[in-house]
Amino acid sequence: TVKQGFEIEPFLQQLVGEARALPVSGKVADYIPALAQVNPDKVGLALATVEGKLYSAGDSTTEFSIQSLSKILGLVMAMNRIGDSLWQRVHMEPSGLPFNSIVQLEYEHGIPRNPFINAGAILIADVLASHYSASRQAFISFIRKLAGSDQIFVDEDVLQSEKQHGSRNAAMAYLMKSFGNVEGDVDRVLDHYFYQCSVNMTCEQLASSLTFLANRGLQPVTQRVICSRRDAHRVNAILSTSGMYDQSGEFAFTVGLPAKSGVGGGIVAIVPGYGVICAWSPRLNHFGNSCLGMHMITGLAEQLGLSVY
Ligand code: GLU
Repeated sequence: TVKQGFEIEPFLQQLVGEARALPVSGKVADYIPALAQVNPDKVGLALATVEGKLYSAGDSTTEFSIQSLSKILGLVMAMNRIGDSLWQRVHMEPSGLPFNSIVQLEYEHGIPRNPFINAGAILIADVLASHYSASRQAFISFIRKLAGSDQIFVDEDVLQSEKQHGSRNAAMAYLMKSFGNVEGDVDRVLDHYFYQCSVNMTCEQLASSLTFLANRGLQPVTQRVICSRRDAHRVNAILSTSGMYDQSGEFAFTVGLPAKSGVGGGIVAIVPGYGVICAWSPRLNHFGNSCLGMHMITGLAEQLGLSVY
Protein backbone atom coordinates (compact mmCIF):
# COMPACT_ATOMS: atom_id res chain seq x y z
CA THR A 1 0.00 0.00 0.00
CA VAL A 2 1.13 3.49 -0.82
CA LYS A 3 1.72 5.90 2.02
CA GLN A 4 -1.35 8.09 2.48
CA GLY A 5 -1.90 11.64 3.70
CA PHE A 6 1.38 12.82 2.31
CA GLU A 7 2.01 16.06 0.45
CA ILE A 8 3.28 14.77 -2.87
CA GLU A 9 4.04 17.90 -4.85
CA PRO A 10 6.25 19.57 -2.20
CA PHE A 11 8.12 16.29 -1.97
CA LEU A 12 8.68 16.22 -5.73
CA GLN A 13 10.00 19.79 -5.49
CA GLN A 14 12.29 18.74 -2.68
CA LEU A 15 13.61 15.83 -4.76
CA VAL A 16 14.29 18.09 -7.73
CA GLY A 17 16.05 20.61 -5.44
CA GLU A 18 18.19 17.90 -3.89
CA ALA A 19 19.05 16.49 -7.32
CA ARG A 20 20.10 19.93 -8.57
CA ALA A 21 22.39 20.35 -5.56
CA LEU A 22 24.27 17.09 -6.12
CA PRO A 23 27.80 17.24 -7.52
CA VAL A 24 27.65 17.01 -11.31
CA SER A 25 28.10 13.48 -12.56
CA GLY A 26 27.51 11.63 -15.80
CA LYS A 27 27.62 12.66 -19.41
CA VAL A 28 25.03 13.63 -22.02
CA ALA A 29 24.67 11.04 -24.82
CA ASP A 30 26.63 12.20 -27.84
CA TYR A 31 26.82 9.15 -30.08
CA ILE A 32 23.89 10.77 -31.88
CA PRO A 33 25.33 14.31 -32.24
CA ALA A 34 21.99 16.13 -32.11
CA LEU A 35 21.32 14.68 -28.64
CA ALA A 36 24.40 16.47 -27.31
CA GLN A 37 22.71 19.84 -28.01
CA VAL A 38 20.42 19.52 -24.98
CA ASN A 39 20.91 21.69 -21.87
CA PRO A 40 22.51 19.14 -19.50
CA ASP A 41 21.29 20.86 -16.33
CA LYS A 42 17.58 20.26 -16.85
CA VAL A 43 15.78 18.29 -14.14
CA GLY A 44 12.10 17.37 -14.34
CA LEU A 45 9.83 15.06 -12.38
CA ALA A 46 6.16 14.13 -12.73
CA LEU A 47 3.78 11.64 -11.17
CA ALA A 48 0.42 10.80 -12.74
CA THR A 49 -1.93 8.63 -10.69
CA VAL A 50 -4.61 6.17 -11.78
CA GLU A 51 -7.08 8.49 -10.07
CA GLY A 52 -6.27 11.10 -12.68
CA LYS A 53 -4.09 13.38 -10.55
CA LEU A 54 -0.90 14.90 -11.93
CA TYR A 55 1.91 16.20 -9.72
CA SER A 56 5.12 17.67 -11.02
CA ALA A 57 8.21 19.71 -10.27
CA GLY A 58 11.21 21.28 -12.01
CA ASP A 59 11.43 21.13 -15.80
CA SER A 60 8.44 18.83 -16.08
CA THR A 61 6.86 20.72 -18.99
CA THR A 62 10.04 20.94 -21.07
CA GLU A 63 10.17 18.62 -24.08
CA PHE A 64 12.99 16.16 -24.48
CA SER A 65 13.87 13.33 -26.82
CA ILE A 66 11.99 10.25 -25.63
CA GLN A 67 14.42 7.87 -27.39
CA SER A 68 14.00 4.35 -25.98
CA LEU A 69 10.91 5.25 -23.98
CA SER A 70 9.20 4.96 -27.37
CA LYS A 71 9.92 1.22 -27.26
CA ILE A 72 7.11 0.77 -24.74
CA LEU A 73 4.55 2.34 -27.03
CA GLY A 74 5.80 0.54 -30.13
CA LEU A 75 5.49 -2.74 -28.25
CA VAL A 76 1.92 -2.02 -27.14
CA MET A 77 0.93 -1.17 -30.72
CA ALA A 78 2.52 -4.36 -32.08
CA MET A 79 0.86 -6.53 -29.41
CA ASN A 80 -2.48 -5.00 -30.23
CA ARG A 81 -1.92 -5.51 -33.92
CA ILE A 82 -0.61 -9.07 -34.26
CA GLY A 83 -1.30 -10.71 -30.89
CA ASP A 84 0.64 -13.72 -29.61
CA SER A 85 2.44 -14.45 -32.88
CA LEU A 86 4.73 -11.55 -31.92
CA TRP A 87 6.46 -13.75 -29.35
CA GLN A 88 7.75 -16.09 -32.03
CA ARG A 89 9.76 -13.19 -33.44
CA VAL A 90 11.02 -11.55 -30.26
CA HIS A 91 11.66 -13.13 -26.88
CA MET A 92 11.19 -11.89 -23.31
CA GLU A 93 14.52 -12.59 -21.67
CA PRO A 94 17.03 -10.10 -20.29
CA SER A 95 19.99 -9.72 -22.59
CA GLY A 96 22.84 -9.09 -20.15
CA LEU A 97 24.50 -7.03 -22.87
CA PRO A 98 24.40 -3.35 -23.84
CA PHE A 99 21.24 -2.05 -25.55
CA ASN A 100 22.85 -1.83 -28.95
CA SER A 101 24.72 -5.13 -28.88
CA ILE A 102 24.52 -7.24 -32.02
CA VAL A 103 26.31 -10.47 -31.01
CA GLN A 104 23.40 -12.45 -29.54
CA LEU A 105 21.40 -11.97 -32.71
CA GLU A 106 23.64 -14.29 -34.68
CA TYR A 107 23.63 -17.05 -32.06
CA GLU A 108 19.87 -16.76 -31.61
CA HIS A 109 18.97 -16.93 -35.30
CA GLY A 110 17.94 -13.33 -35.67
CA ILE A 111 15.46 -13.41 -32.79
CA PRO A 112 16.09 -10.52 -30.38
CA ARG A 113 16.20 -11.28 -26.68
CA ASN A 114 13.51 -8.73 -25.77
CA PRO A 115 11.59 -5.78 -27.24
CA PHE A 116 13.51 -3.16 -25.22
CA ILE A 117 16.99 -3.64 -26.65
CA ASN A 118 17.54 -1.98 -30.02
CA ALA A 119 17.34 -5.23 -32.00
CA GLY A 120 13.96 -6.01 -30.42
CA ALA A 121 12.60 -2.53 -31.02
CA ILE A 122 13.77 -2.66 -34.65
CA LEU A 123 11.92 -5.96 -35.02
CA ILE A 124 8.82 -4.27 -33.58
CA ALA A 125 9.35 -1.45 -36.07
CA ASP A 126 9.23 -4.08 -38.83
CA VAL A 127 5.92 -5.38 -37.48
CA LEU A 128 4.48 -1.87 -37.41
CA ALA A 129 5.88 -0.85 -40.80
CA SER A 130 4.38 -3.94 -42.43
CA HIS A 131 1.00 -3.82 -40.68
CA TYR A 132 0.23 -0.15 -41.10
CA SER A 133 0.17 1.67 -44.40
CA ALA A 134 1.59 4.73 -42.60
CA SER A 135 3.20 3.39 -39.44
CA ARG A 136 4.91 6.62 -38.38
CA GLN A 137 1.65 8.51 -38.61
CA ALA A 138 -0.09 5.71 -36.68
CA PHE A 139 2.60 5.91 -34.01
CA ILE A 140 2.38 9.66 -33.46
CA SER A 141 -1.42 9.51 -33.50
CA PHE A 142 -1.34 6.81 -30.84
CA ILE A 143 0.92 8.95 -28.63
CA ARG A 144 -1.19 12.05 -29.16
CA LYS A 145 -4.31 10.13 -28.25
CA LEU A 146 -2.69 8.80 -25.07
CA ALA A 147 -1.36 12.23 -24.10
CA GLY A 148 -4.62 13.97 -25.01
CA SER A 149 -2.61 16.51 -27.02
CA ASP A 150 -1.98 17.08 -30.70
CA GLN A 151 1.08 19.16 -29.82
CA ILE A 152 3.54 16.26 -29.86
CA PHE A 153 6.11 16.27 -32.65
CA VAL A 154 9.27 14.68 -33.93
CA ASP A 155 12.55 16.59 -33.59
CA GLU A 156 13.78 16.76 -37.19
CA ASP A 157 17.41 17.41 -36.19
CA VAL A 158 17.49 14.36 -33.95
CA LEU A 159 15.80 12.30 -36.66
CA GLN A 160 18.39 13.26 -39.29
CA SER A 161 21.21 12.68 -36.82
CA GLU A 162 19.84 9.22 -35.91
CA LYS A 163 19.75 8.30 -39.59
CA GLN A 164 23.28 9.53 -40.22
CA HIS A 165 24.72 7.71 -37.24
CA GLY A 166 22.55 4.62 -37.33
CA SER A 167 24.91 2.13 -38.95
CA ARG A 168 24.83 -0.25 -36.03
CA ASN A 169 21.03 -0.27 -36.00
CA ALA A 170 21.06 -0.83 -39.75
CA ALA A 171 23.46 -3.75 -39.28
CA MET A 172 21.05 -5.36 -36.83
CA ALA A 173 18.12 -4.87 -39.15
CA TYR A 174 20.01 -6.49 -42.03
CA LEU A 175 21.15 -9.39 -39.88
CA MET A 176 17.55 -10.04 -38.78
CA LYS A 177 16.49 -9.76 -42.41
CA SER A 178 19.08 -12.38 -43.40
CA PHE A 179 17.44 -14.77 -40.93
CA GLY A 180 14.03 -13.95 -42.36
CA ASN A 181 12.82 -12.39 -39.11
CA VAL A 182 12.63 -8.85 -40.50
CA GLU A 183 10.11 -9.14 -43.33
CA GLY A 184 9.91 -5.67 -44.80
CA ASP A 185 12.23 -3.30 -46.55
CA VAL A 186 15.07 -2.42 -44.16
CA ASP A 187 15.02 1.29 -44.99
CA ARG A 188 11.33 1.51 -44.18
CA VAL A 189 11.87 -0.36 -40.92
CA LEU A 190 14.70 1.96 -39.89
CA ASP A 191 12.69 5.01 -40.90
CA HIS A 192 10.00 3.95 -38.49
CA TYR A 193 12.46 3.10 -35.72
CA PHE A 194 14.39 6.39 -35.94
CA TYR A 195 11.14 8.33 -36.17
CA GLN A 196 9.75 6.88 -32.96
CA CYS A 197 13.04 7.51 -31.11
CA SER A 198 13.01 11.15 -32.22
CA VAL A 199 9.65 12.12 -30.72
CA ASN A 200 9.79 14.90 -28.11
CA MET A 201 7.59 14.81 -25.01
CA THR A 202 7.53 16.28 -21.50
CA CYS A 203 7.65 14.47 -18.15
CA GLU A 204 4.02 15.37 -17.55
CA GLN A 205 2.93 14.03 -20.94
CA LEU A 206 4.88 10.80 -20.54
CA ALA A 207 3.65 10.08 -17.02
CA SER A 208 0.01 10.67 -17.90
CA SER A 209 0.22 8.84 -21.24
CA LEU A 210 1.41 5.62 -19.64
CA THR A 211 -1.05 5.41 -16.75
CA PHE A 212 -2.90 2.62 -18.58
CA LEU A 213 0.05 0.36 -17.72
CA ALA A 214 -0.54 1.01 -14.02
CA ASN A 215 -4.26 0.40 -14.49
CA ARG A 216 -4.46 -3.00 -16.20
CA GLY A 217 -4.57 -1.57 -19.69
CA LEU A 218 -7.38 0.92 -19.05
CA GLN A 219 -6.69 4.64 -19.45
CA PRO A 220 -7.84 6.15 -16.14
CA VAL A 221 -9.88 9.28 -16.83
CA THR A 222 -11.23 8.36 -20.27
CA GLN A 223 -11.78 4.68 -19.36
CA ARG A 224 -10.55 3.70 -22.82
CA VAL A 225 -9.06 0.24 -23.22
CA ILE A 226 -5.51 0.79 -24.52
CA CYS A 227 -4.40 -2.83 -24.22
CA SER A 228 -5.62 -6.00 -22.54
CA ARG A 229 -4.99 -6.62 -18.86
CA ARG A 230 -2.78 -9.54 -19.83
CA ASP A 231 -0.67 -7.40 -22.15
CA ALA A 232 -0.28 -4.66 -19.51
CA HIS A 233 1.01 -7.39 -17.19
CA ARG A 234 3.42 -8.60 -19.88
CA VAL A 235 4.81 -5.17 -20.68
CA ASN A 236 5.41 -4.51 -16.98
CA ALA A 237 7.09 -7.90 -16.58
CA ILE A 238 9.56 -7.25 -19.38
CA LEU A 239 10.15 -3.71 -18.14
CA SER A 240 11.08 -5.17 -14.74
CA THR A 241 13.72 -7.46 -16.18
CA SER A 242 14.96 -5.48 -19.17
CA GLY A 243 13.90 -1.83 -19.07
CA MET A 244 16.92 -0.22 -17.45
CA TYR A 245 19.67 -1.45 -19.76
CA ASP A 246 22.38 -3.39 -17.96
CA GLN A 247 21.34 -1.89 -14.66
CA SER A 248 17.91 -3.58 -14.67
CA GLY A 249 18.91 -6.05 -11.97
CA GLU A 250 20.22 -3.36 -9.68
CA PHE A 251 17.17 -1.19 -10.30
CA ALA A 252 14.86 -4.09 -9.35
CA PHE A 253 17.03 -4.69 -6.30
CA THR A 254 17.01 -1.11 -5.03
CA VAL A 255 13.73 0.34 -6.37
CA GLY A 256 11.55 -2.57 -7.46
CA LEU A 257 9.40 -1.02 -10.19
CA PRO A 258 8.91 -1.84 -13.88
CA ALA A 259 10.76 0.99 -15.63
CA LYS A 260 12.32 2.12 -18.89
CA SER A 261 15.01 4.61 -19.58
CA GLY A 262 16.20 6.31 -22.75
CA VAL A 263 19.45 7.96 -23.79
CA GLY A 264 17.67 11.33 -23.87
CA GLY A 265 17.79 11.14 -20.05
CA GLY A 266 14.16 10.19 -19.46
CA ILE A 267 13.05 7.38 -17.15
CA VAL A 268 9.47 6.19 -16.66
CA ALA A 269 8.55 3.88 -13.79
CA ILE A 270 5.21 2.11 -13.53
CA VAL A 271 3.60 1.62 -10.13
CA PRO A 272 0.81 -0.91 -10.75
CA GLY A 273 -2.45 0.19 -9.15
CA TYR A 274 -1.07 3.62 -8.31
CA GLY A 275 0.43 5.59 -11.19
CA VAL A 276 3.43 6.42 -13.34
CA ILE A 277 6.54 8.45 -12.51
CA CYS A 278 8.58 10.20 -15.18
CA ALA A 279 11.96 11.72 -14.35
CA TRP A 280 14.23 13.53 -16.77
CA SER A 281 17.76 14.85 -16.62
CA PRO A 282 20.16 14.47 -19.56
CA ARG A 283 23.41 13.41 -17.88
CA LEU A 284 23.75 9.61 -18.04
CA ASN A 285 25.71 7.13 -15.97
CA HIS A 286 27.86 4.55 -17.72
CA PHE A 287 24.88 2.21 -18.18
CA GLY A 288 23.06 4.95 -20.12
CA ASN A 289 20.58 5.75 -17.33
CA SER A 290 19.97 9.33 -16.18
CA CYS A 291 22.01 9.94 -13.01
CA LEU A 292 19.58 12.39 -11.43
CA GLY A 293 16.57 10.53 -12.79
CA MET A 294 17.69 7.41 -10.95
CA HIS A 295 18.30 9.44 -7.83
CA MET A 296 14.84 11.05 -7.84
CA ILE A 297 12.93 7.86 -8.65
CA THR A 298 14.79 5.99 -5.94
CA GLY A 299 13.93 8.72 -3.42
CA LEU A 300 10.28 8.84 -4.42
CA ALA A 301 9.85 5.06 -4.41
CA GLU A 302 11.46 4.80 -0.98
CA GLN A 303 9.48 7.63 0.56
CA LEU A 304 6.13 6.43 -0.78
CA GLY A 305 6.88 2.72 -0.35
CA LEU A 306 6.20 1.96 -4.00
CA SER A 307 8.08 -1.28 -4.66
CA VAL A 308 6.07 -4.07 -6.33
CA TYR A 309 8.02 -6.74 -4.44
N1 GLU B 1 17.82 6.02 -30.91
C1 GLU B 1 18.65 5.33 -30.00
C2 GLU B 1 19.42 4.25 -30.70
O1 GLU B 1 18.87 3.45 -31.38
C3 GLU B 1 17.83 4.80 -28.86
C4 GLU B 1 18.72 4.41 -27.78
C5 GLU B 1 18.12 4.41 -26.40
O2 GLU B 1 17.47 5.36 -25.94
O3 GLU B 1 18.38 3.40 -25.71
O4 GLU B 1 20.60 4.17 -30.60
